[in-house]
Amino acid sequence: MCSSRALYEEVILDHNKKPRNFYPMEDADHTIEGFNPLCGDHFTIYLKLNGEIIQEISFHGAGCAISKSSASVMTTLLKGKTVKEAEKLFEHFHHMITSATDAELDDKTLGKLMVFSGVREYPVRIKCATLAWHALISGLHGEGKAPVSTE
Ligand code: ZN
Repeated sequence: MCSSRALYEEVILDHNKKPRNFYPMEDADHTIEGFNPLCGDHFTIYLKLNGEIIQEISFHGAGCAISKSSASVMTTLLKGKTVKEAEKLFEHFHHMITSATDAELDDKTLGKLMVFSGVREYPVRIKCATLAWHALISGLHGEGKAPVSTE
């Protein structure tokens, strides 16, 4: 248990220091801004869709280690996935992160998202971890141009 927690922290720190797919995409189909006023996290998610497939995904902006690494992990997981798969994954992620701290987790379904399971113990951090996902989902649904706020 302790060793896996240390491993999770390492993954989060790594993605915070070297975020993947971290660049503004100039020819994106969808550009969605996400803002978490509680913490000051502010990211833009860029998407290029090919029908139902997420062809390219990137993000840019600034925020705390949790929000940044969560956005980074999200982009690595979703490239090449369908919109439906992305929504399903967010459902699992959201369920995990809002579940009781002693609830059993299905690590097979969650895969890499398990690194954020510790966030369950810090409710104030949940919005940091889900910010990029909320922005993504509203982008996939083609909702307005207004920035997505966690409030
Ligand atoms: Zn944050």
